[in-house]
Amino acid sequence: MTTSVECPECRKKSLLLGDGEPRCECGYSDSASGAAEEYVVTVLGISKYEAIKDGGELPISECPDCDMDTLVVRAASEGQEEAAKFICFHCGEISKDRELQYCDGAGDRGSHWARPFDAARCNACIASAEDDD
Ligand SMILES: [Zn+2]
Ligand SMILES: [Zn+2]
Ligand SMILES: [Zn+2]
Repeated sequence: MTTSVECPECRKKSLLLGDGEPRCECGYSDSASGAAEEYVVTVLGISKYEAIKDGGELPISECPDCDMDTLVVRAASEGQEEAAKFICFHCGEISKDRELQYCDGAGDRGSHWARPFDAARCNACIASAEDDD
Protein backbone atom coordinates (compact mmCIF):
# COMPACT_ATOMS: atom_id res chain seq x y z
CA MET A 1 0.00 0.00 0.00
CA THR A 2 1.33 3.41 -0.85
CA THR A 3 0.27 6.58 0.85
CA SER A 4 1.52 10.11 1.12
CA VAL A 5 2.04 12.26 4.16
CA GLU A 6 3.43 15.70 4.85
CA CYS A 7 7.04 16.00 3.80
CA PRO A 8 9.42 17.27 6.49
CA GLU A 9 11.35 19.16 3.82
CA CYS A 10 8.77 20.99 1.66
CA ARG A 11 5.79 20.50 4.01
CA LYS A 12 3.53 19.41 1.15
CA LYS A 13 1.57 16.22 1.48
CA SER A 14 3.74 14.53 -1.09
CA LEU A 15 6.08 12.28 0.82
CA LEU A 16 5.43 8.87 -0.71
CA LEU A 17 5.50 5.88 1.63
CA GLY A 18 5.18 2.16 1.04
CA ASP A 19 7.08 1.98 -2.23
CA GLY A 20 10.72 1.52 -1.29
CA GLU A 21 12.36 4.29 0.66
CA PRO A 22 10.21 7.31 1.45
CA ARG A 23 10.74 10.02 -1.14
CA CYS A 24 9.19 13.30 -2.15
CA GLU A 25 8.89 15.16 -5.42
CA CYS A 26 10.94 17.98 -3.84
CA GLY A 27 13.96 15.67 -3.80
CA TYR A 28 13.83 14.66 -0.16
CA SER A 29 14.39 11.00 0.53
CA ASP A 30 15.62 8.98 3.46
CA SER A 31 15.47 5.49 4.92
CA ALA A 32 12.09 4.57 6.42
CA SER A 33 13.38 5.00 9.96
CA GLY A 34 15.22 8.21 9.11
CA ALA A 35 12.15 9.74 7.49
CA ALA A 36 9.92 8.61 10.36
CA GLU A 37 12.19 10.38 12.83
CA GLU A 38 12.40 13.48 10.65
CA TYR A 39 8.60 13.52 10.38
CA VAL A 40 8.12 13.30 14.14
CA VAL A 41 10.62 16.06 14.80
CA THR A 42 9.69 18.44 11.99
CA VAL A 43 6.02 17.81 11.22
CA LEU A 44 4.77 16.81 14.65
CA GLY A 45 7.16 19.21 16.35
CA ILE A 46 8.42 16.75 18.95
CA SER A 47 12.04 17.30 19.78
CA LYS A 48 14.22 14.35 20.59
CA TYR A 49 15.71 16.25 23.49
CA GLU A 50 12.31 17.04 25.03
CA ALA A 51 11.06 13.49 24.53
CA ILE A 52 14.08 11.97 26.23
CA LYS A 53 14.19 14.62 28.95
CA ASP A 54 10.59 13.72 29.87
CA GLY A 55 11.68 10.13 30.26
CA GLY A 56 10.04 9.05 27.05
CA GLU A 57 11.16 8.45 23.56
CA LEU A 58 10.06 9.51 20.14
CA PRO A 59 6.60 8.14 19.28
CA ILE A 60 7.98 5.61 16.84
CA SER A 61 7.10 2.00 17.43
CA GLU A 62 7.17 -1.40 15.83
CA CYS A 63 4.73 -1.88 12.95
CA PRO A 64 2.46 -4.94 13.34
CA ASP A 65 2.29 -5.28 9.56
CA CYS A 66 5.95 -5.25 8.57
CA ASP A 67 7.74 -5.60 11.94
CA MET A 68 9.96 -2.61 11.27
CA ASP A 69 10.53 0.13 13.84
CA THR A 70 8.94 2.69 11.59
CA LEU A 71 5.44 3.14 12.97
CA VAL A 72 4.78 6.76 13.85
CA VAL A 73 2.15 7.13 16.54
CA ARG A 74 0.41 10.42 16.08
CA ALA A 75 -1.57 10.85 19.26
CA ALA A 76 -4.77 12.81 19.30
CA SER A 77 -4.15 16.23 20.69
CA GLU A 78 -6.09 17.29 23.69
CA GLY A 79 -9.54 18.68 23.07
CA GLN A 80 -9.57 17.42 19.54
CA GLU A 81 -12.01 15.01 18.05
CA GLU A 82 -9.35 13.55 15.85
CA ALA A 83 -8.28 10.18 17.15
CA ALA A 84 -4.81 8.73 17.28
CA LYS A 85 -3.37 7.71 13.99
CA PHE A 86 -0.59 5.31 13.10
CA ILE A 87 1.52 5.75 10.02
CA CYS A 88 4.12 3.20 8.98
CA PHE A 89 6.95 4.76 7.02
CA HIS A 90 8.08 1.40 5.73
CA CYS A 91 4.94 -0.33 4.46
CA GLY A 92 2.79 2.78 4.11
CA GLU A 93 -0.04 1.35 6.15
CA ILE A 94 -2.17 3.89 8.00
CA SER A 95 -4.30 2.77 10.92
CA LYS A 96 -6.74 4.69 12.99
CA ASP A 97 -7.34 4.64 16.69
CA ARG A 98 -8.68 1.31 17.93
CA GLU A 99 -7.45 -0.45 14.82
CA LEU A 100 -4.30 -0.99 16.84
CA GLN A 101 -3.83 -1.60 20.54
CA TYR A 102 -0.92 -2.34 22.82
CA CYS A 103 0.25 -5.89 22.30
CA ASP A 104 0.07 -7.72 25.61
CA GLY A 105 2.97 -9.97 24.67
CA ALA A 106 5.39 -7.09 25.24
CA GLY A 107 7.97 -8.81 27.46
CA ASP A 108 11.53 -7.91 26.63
CA ARG A 109 10.54 -6.60 23.22
CA GLY A 110 9.15 -3.54 24.94
CA SER A 111 5.77 -2.05 24.29
CA HIS A 112 4.55 -2.18 20.75
CA TRP A 113 1.29 -2.34 18.86
CA ALA A 114 -0.85 -5.12 17.53
CA ARG A 115 -4.03 -5.35 15.54
CA PRO A 116 -6.82 -6.23 17.94
CA PHE A 117 -7.88 -9.78 17.41
CA ASP A 118 -8.22 -12.95 19.44
CA ALA A 119 -5.23 -12.95 21.71
CA ALA A 120 -4.52 -9.22 21.52
CA ARG A 121 -1.03 -10.11 20.43
CA CYS A 122 0.88 -9.37 17.31
CA ASN A 123 2.00 -12.12 14.96
CA ALA A 124 5.58 -11.99 16.21
CA CYS A 125 4.53 -12.52 19.84
CA ILE A 126 2.15 -15.33 18.90
CA ALA A 127 4.95 -17.01 16.96
CA SER A 128 7.43 -16.70 19.82
CA ALA A 129 4.84 -18.02 22.33
CA GLU A 130 4.40 -21.07 20.12
CA ASP A 131 8.17 -21.58 20.08
CA ASP A 132 8.16 -21.74 23.88
CA ASP A 133 5.77 -24.67 23.97
ZN1 LIG B 1 9.02 17.34 -0.10
ZN1 LIG C 1 4.79 -1.30 8.41
ZN1 LIG D 1 3.62 -8.34 20.20
